[in-house]
Amino acid sequence: MKKIIILFIGLIAFASCKNDAKEAEKQEVVEETEVVKETTEDSTKTYPSSFKVNPIQHATMVITWDGKIIYVDPVGGADAFKNFDAPDLILVTDIHQDHFSVETLQGLNTSRAKIIVPQAVADLMPSEFDAQIDVLNNGDTKERFGFSVEAIPMYNLRPEALKYHEKGRGNGYVIEKNGRRVYISGDTEDIPEMLALEDIDIAFVTMNLPYTMTEVQAANAVATFMPRIVYPYHYRGAAGFSNIETFKAMLKKASEGKVQVVQLDWYPQ
Ligand code: ZN
Repeated sequence: MKKIIILFIGLIAFASCKNDAKEAEKQEVVEETEVVKETTEDSTKTYPSSFKVNPIQHATMVITWDGKIIYVDPVGGADAFKNFDAPDLILVTDIHQDHFSVETLQGLNTSRAKIIVPQAVADLMPSEFDAQIDVLNNGDTKERFGFSVEAIPMYNLRPEALKYHEKGRGNGYVIEKNGRRVYISGDTEDIPEMLALEDIDIAFVTMNLPYTMTEVQAANAVATFMPRIVYPYHYRGAAGFSNIETFKAMLKKASEGKVQVVQLDWYPQ
């Protein structure tokens, strides 16, 4: 697992490097890719072609996939994205400030972007974005740039947490292209709609208290819908970080080791 993590750090470095350093970085990535082929049996088979994820922070990421740039929950100011190309697609999951920032959106070059949001987010968007917004409510699907994006419910189940995410307001997403399916959970617990997901290649799953779910809930949920690869993300809560080692151990047991866990650095500062 250590070697796999090294690869992803390499990819992040590559994505954020300046042009003049590109050749040297490229060499580094190629070497580390070789390592992954040796150490993971089927990661090359199950990965969507040319899929890369660059964590920005907490729930915010930049995905590059088949030459398209997808920003997920862009917050934290436009500067956080200065090393990435302008987005083709922006997905926003919910109204909370760790997922949605008008100021960040206004600071980015979104001139070519479609912005997919739930209605509750659309209601908070300034009119300058009207022409590029696609409102998706739970269960809706939209085709954009060759990707199919389906809005998956995200909400709390524990009685004490119902106030955080009410059912129907926010969206998780399944992005699909060429039969490859990537799930981004958004802030949710182990809801039936998550457990019923099928054929997920890559899943991003939240686990933080009191806002989403425990490591154990997350592990059991992932072992139920069985993605090929899971990225724990959004794992800092009110009392600190969730224990990703606990999640890994629980998932390994529950899935008989069939789900690969990739931990990236979601909290660089
Ligand atoms: Zn959140």
